[in-house]
Amino acid sequence: MAKANALPILVAGGGIGGLAAAYALARKGFPVRVLEQAPEFREIGAGIQLGPNIFRALEKLGLKEAVLADAHIPPAMEMRDALTGQSVTRIPLDVPAFREKFKQPYAVTHRHDIHGVFIKVCREHNLVTLENNRTVESFDEDGDGVTVTLVSGERITGRALIGCDGMWSKIREKIVGDGKPLVSGHIAYRAVLKREEVPADLWQPDVILWAGPRTHLVHYPLRRGEIYNLVAVFHSKRYVEGWNAEADAADLWEHFQGQRPEVLRMLERIDTWRMWVLCDREPVKEWAKGHAVLLGDAAHPMLQYLAQGACMATEDAVWLAEKVAQNPDDLPAAFKAYVQQRYLRTARVQLMARVYGDFYHARGPAAELRYQLLNPRTPEQAYDGIDWLYGGM
Ligand SMILES: Cc1cc2nc3c(=O)[nH]c(=O)nc-3n(C[C@H](O)[C@H](O)[C@H](O)COP(=O)(O)OP(=O)(O)OC[C@H]3O[C@@H](n4cnc5c(N)ncnc54)[C@H](O)[C@@H]3O)c2cc1C
Repeated sequence: MAKANALPILVAGGGIGGLAAAYALARKGFPVRVLEQAPEFREIGAGIQLGPNIFRALEKLGLKEAVLADAHIPPAMEMRDALTGQSVTRIPLDVPAFREKFKQPYAVTHRHDIHGVFIKVCREHNLVTLENNRTVESFDEDGDGVTVTLVSGERITGRALIGCDGMWSKIREKIVGDGKPLVSGHIAYRAVLKREEVPADLWQPDVILWAGPRTHLVHYPLRRGEIYNLVAVFHSKRYVEGWNAEADAADLWEHFQGQRPEVLRMLERIDTWRMWVLCDREPVKEWAKGHAVLLGDAAHPMLQYLAQGACMATEDAVWLAEKVAQNPDDLPAAFKAYVQQRYLRTARVQLMARVYGDFYHARGPAAELRYQLLNPRTPEQAYDGIDWLYGGM
């Protein structure tokens, strides 16, 4: 149990990771203050894939059904060759064999919807305080706690600090100090369409990935099928920090030239794209320093090719709360135990995501080899291949 009258645990950043951590800790009896830089708690307007492993974590938080309420369960995930139209591999998801193997579903949802579930439960929990317009600049350790300094100059004291401030984390600067994230040279354009804006013959209930030379396009329905999510990725030298920059459509067209009409017709539907420059970092295990520790993208930023960043952040939150509850009087030790639990699993996802990116963007013989390796697999073989990720937590 938490100490009576203890100072709150401070959480820097109110994204999926920060809110999941706040709620998980509050459920274990710890008061938490979430300090978010933005004027309101909000996720960007885009879809997110949720592997079975996140549902294992959400179930522990009692939130699985709430997240599923607005989600869409795709019947399958399919990779198609963007030049030939050939189906490279198709993995059934909404079938008994998948459910028996992983005991949890595969779903896709709108980021607002899953983030909204976390906001609601945090707001309703009397041990969580959510605060906006609080940009964390740095922190200092002071014996048995931390003092956070905001850009406004205000200082806030807590029992401990969880750095959930994402890819460009200030808290990481102080704990790890490994500079800026690594720019992958890949860029993602995203858009969301209403169902009626998608040509009827192109609307698919599945997660479809069109793999092209140095490009791919992913699309799938969201929010019980009412809207449609598109993410187009290509290689580019552009670099803009943040997750919401306006994108230049001409750049996109140049890279998708010559691809299947299904791909081009889908891209044509979009008037305005937003973009992300995709970054990651080398895995490290120094996420904890005394009473401060990292979680989510601040700890293990990864490319999105395994669709796992938010899943990993939610798993982190559950394990962090578990370890803190096991050792409430020695948070530095609890944080070390949490890092020990998490760093290899998340490192594997960081490294494997890069490999998947190479697979998706293969050209020439590499693309032929991709077909040769993936096409003959049975669904069971595909499930076994991803068991390390979907079967764990
Ligand atoms: C193209 C793309 C597709 C993706 N698809 C998937 C997917 O399908 N499935 C999946 O699981 N993951 C996916 N991800 C990854 C996922 O979006 C991230 O890993 C996840 O959002 C990380 O959550 P987080 O809370 O750690 O960080 P963030 O979501 O970045 O949240 C950080 C929060 O901290 C705040 N903040 C930042 N700095 C400060 C500061 N100094 N002080 C206070 N607050 C601060 C920010 O405003 C923000 O609210 C994808 C990523 C990309 C780029």
